Amino acid sequence: MATVHETLPCRVLSGPGARHDVPGELERLGARRVLVVATGSARAAADELAGALGGRLAARFDRPAVHTPVHVTAEALEVARGAGADVVVAIGGGSAVGLSKALAARTGMPQVVVPTTYAGSEVTPVLGETDNGVKTTRRDPALAPGTVVYDPELTLSMPPGLTRTSALNALAHAVEALWAPDATAATDALATEAATVVLDALPHVLADPAGLPARSRLQQAAWLAGLCLAQTRTGLHHQLTHVLGGAYGLPHAELHAMLLAHVMAFNLPFAPAAADRLSKVTGGDPVAAVAALARGYEGPTTLGALGVPRDGLPGIAERVVAAPYPNPRPLDPAELTALLEAAW
Ligand code: NAD
Repeated sequence: MATVHETLPCRVLSGPGARHDVPGELERLGARRVLVVATGSARAAADELAGALGGRLAARFDRPAVHTPVHVTAEALEVARGAGADVVVAIGGGSAVGLSKALAARTGMPQVVVPTTYAGSEVTPVLGETDNGVKTTRRDPALAPGTVVYDPELTLSMPPGLTRTSALNALAHAVEALWAPDATAATDALATEAATVVLDALPHVLADPAGLPARSRLQQAAWLAGLCLAQTRTGLHHQLTHVLGGAYGLPHAELHAMLLAHVMAFNLPFAPAAADRLSKVTGGDPVAAVAALARGYEGPTTLGALGVPRDGLPGIAERVVAAPYPNPRPLDPAELTALLEAAW
């Protein structure tokens, strides 16, 4: 069987100050009534955009929530329809981007997204939505934003904890792409570069959070990692974050950060090509390199500290084994419980 590589049409603008080009991009799209979606953390950028749009601003919505709850989308949809919006601009992390995708899915509105974290959702055709605590995920090229604006100045406000966990979230996209069954020469190249730059730039950013050059490099790596996520199927690592996150309502990026080294230790002996690339990237033991970065987090670094009950772990393992995502290492409930115990 041939491998398939499919790229999505997307116009990407990047560079310090790129956010100031958003009005021009909206002009290109022929937008007349703009809905601006932004979390509190992006209020200043949203205010700035609203000022630049003048009469073209149709409405603002400032309450996107993590995991895209459908009741929040319904509220935002009412605002969009009431204001006659014809384009949505989202400024924020994966939560704001998720709401933008959910609105586009329901209205067909074009999207311009301005990410402020390293989650990568802005370049994927994937949307996860929650309804009554149950998260369902769908994939459709129509969900992928048509315009993405990477302005590293908007990442300067990320606190150190979010910087670290969000960067490890990006690294996880790259690592899983390296052992994905549908990896291609293109995703291998993207993933290797993304991992190299995340691992190199993150310590610089943590040492000097206001340093724009390292922030820019980290954001560019997150873009490449997002492209990996868009193009390959995810494995055990993303499955664990989905199942644990859904079961216990856990924070997205923190969960990625604490699990990644454990899943790498579990999978890499069964993924020699990925292990080889990551050993070259880290110049040593990739598991130790990622574990050291995860350990430096000042928030919870274990599943136990996040509030996951230890006696819930075998049930999580059973659920994962019952319907596994594609993974290089075959899954066995006892071995998987041992992995979760180690993360606990
Ligand atoms: P988030 O968007 O929920 O943001 C986390 C917190 O950080 C929020 O309080 C936010 O206001 C704040 N924040 C964001 N940017 C900031 C900045 N620059 N400065 C200061 N504070 C800032 O978190 P996230 O990790 O970016 O996104 C998580 C969500 O995205 C989850 O719902 C996840 O499922 C989804 N996601 C989806 C995909 C996909 O492809 N569909 C990929 C990755 C993540």
